[in-house]
Amino acid sequence: MSEKQPLLSGPPYPGNPQGQPQYPGTQGQPPYPYPSAQGQQPYPPAQGQQPYPPAQGQQPYPPAQGQQPYSPPSGQSPYPAAGGATPGYQSGYPAATSGNHVDTPTWQGEVPDDDPDENPNVQPPSATAPPLEKMDQFSGYENMEGTPLQPPPSYNEALHSQPPQSQDMATRVPVVSEEQARNALLDHVSQNCCFGSKPANELIFTNILPSSAFHYSLESYTEKRSTKWAYEPYHGQVIDGSFNGVAPSPWDIEARPPALFQSHTVNMEVPHTASVKPCHDCIGLGRKRCYNCHGRGRTRCHSCHGHGHSTHYINGHHERRHCHFCHGHGRKRCFVCNGHGHTACHTCNARGQLKCFIRLTIEWIVHHDDHVVERTSLPDELIRTVSGETVFKQELPRVWPINHFPDVNINEASKNLVQRHLTGFQAERIIMQRHKVRVIPVANIHCHWNNNSFSYFVYGFEHKVHAPDYPQQCCCGCTLL
Ligand SMILES: [Zn+2]
Ligand SMILES: [Zn+2]
Ligand SMILES: [Zn+2]
Repeated sequence: MSEKQPLLSGPPYPGNPQGQPQYPGTQGQPPYPYPSAQGQQPYPPAQGQQPYPPAQGQQPYPPAQGQQPYSPPSGQSPYPAAGGATPGYQSGYPAATSGNHVDTPTWQGEVPDDDPDENPNVQPPSATAPPLEKMDQFSGYENMEGTPLQPPPSYNEALHSQPPQSQDMATRVPVVSEEQARNALLDHVSQNCCFGSKPANELIFTNILPSSAFHYSLESYTEKRSTKWAYEPYHGQVIDGSFNGVAPSPWDIEARPPALFQSHTVNMEVPHTASVKPCHDCIGLGRKRCYNCHGRGRTRCHSCHGHGHSTHYINGHHERRHCHFCHGHGRKRCFVCNGHGHTACHTCNARGQLKCFIRLTIEWIVHHDDHVVERTSLPDELIRTVSGETVFKQELPRVWPINHFPDVNINEASKNLVQRHLTGFQAERIIMQRHKVRVIPVANIHCHWNNNSFSYFVYGFEHKVHAPDYPQQCCCGCTLL
C-alpha cells in the first residue's frame, strides 16, 4: 500500500454519517488532512545546503499536474482494467473465491505423480519480497538494508550561536514550617493504611534542616532515516518512476515532525523510484500451483486413506464399508482450489505485476538524560518526580553546556551530557536540543516521639514525604523503634 495515496484519496476522517453536519471550513475536502510531504512547509535547510527540489533543469517534486504518465515498457501490453483478464492468465481461471468446481485441473506446470494426502489445516504460503538483484539502481540509495543512513555533515549551529549570557540562577528555597511538616506527615500516614497516626500527631520537632536538590535534564530531538525496497500488487496505480526525474537523495526529501520533542515515525515513497515488474513469485502469471493439492486438483481422502472403503471386523468376519466422505472415490476435490490445481498468487494478489519502490522511513526520536545533585540520604530518584523551581531553561538547535550554575556538579553534568549527545547519535541528525535546571526544596525534619528520635524528609513543592523510619508502620499500632 502506498502511504500517501489511500489516505489522501480515501474517505474523509472521521466518517461523515448521513445527516451529520460537515466539519466547518472543510466543504468538499476531507476534514482531516493527513500530514504528508505534500503541502508541508519545508524544514529550513541548513546554510550552504541546497534545498530539494533543485533550482534548475530538474523536474520538481512533487511533480506538477500534467506530468508524464506511466506507460509500460514496449513489448508489454498495458495492464487491463480491474475485472479484465490478468496477463498470463489462461481463459477460465476462476477467482479464488468463486464457487465453481471443476473435475479436471487446468494447472499446466509440474505436478507430483500421486495425489497428496488431504490436510484440512493447510496454510497458504505467505507473500515473498522480490529479490534485490532485480531492483533498479538509484544514486544515493546504495544502502537498502534498512540500516540507518548517515546524515549529511551538519552545519555547526554552535558556531553561529553565542553561549548563553550569564544569568542569575539563585533561588530562594522555600522553608518548610513545623505546621507544614506535620501536615505533610499526617497526609503521608493517611495514604499508608497500616501507619498509625499517633506519632505524627504527637511528635516534637527538634530541628528542620532545609536544603536544595538540583535536577539537570537534557533532551535532544533527532531524526533518523533509512531506506528499503518495498512492493505492492500493481493494479494500475500511479507510477512515479525515473522518467519523472532523478530521485532526490534520502536526506533531501522534505519532512517535518508533527511537533518538536515528540516521537513519531513516517514511511513515504521516494519520488521517482517506482517501477512495475512482473511478479517474481508467480512469474507474472498471477496464479501459482495450488499449495494443497500441488496442482492435481484433488487430494487423497483422509477418512479411508484413498481406498474408497474401510474394512471392519464384525461378528467374526470382515465387512467392507463404503466411505461416505469421498463417496467411494478415495479422492476428494481440493477445497483450496476447487479442483483447478492453482490458486491466486499472494505476493501480487493475483495481479501478475508488482509496483516496486523505495520506501523511506523517517523516525523522530527524543533522547533524554539527566543528573540529580542531592546531598542528603533522600534517594535521588525521588527528586525526578516532584516539582520544583525551574531556574534555567534553554532550547536551541545546539545548546551550550551551562557553566555558571552555583553548584559545580551541575556544570560538570551539563558539560558531559551535552558532549555525549553531540557525539552519541552517529546515524541521526540533531534537530533541536533543550536543557533545564530545576531546584527542588528538601527539608530533613528531626523530631522525637515516645522518648525516641527519628527523622524524615519533606521534598518538592508538593510536600512529598519520605519516612522510612516512621515509628508506627504496623496495623496494631506497635512501636518499631
Ligand atoms: Zn488445490
Ligand atoms: Zn474416503
Ligand atoms: Zn504473483
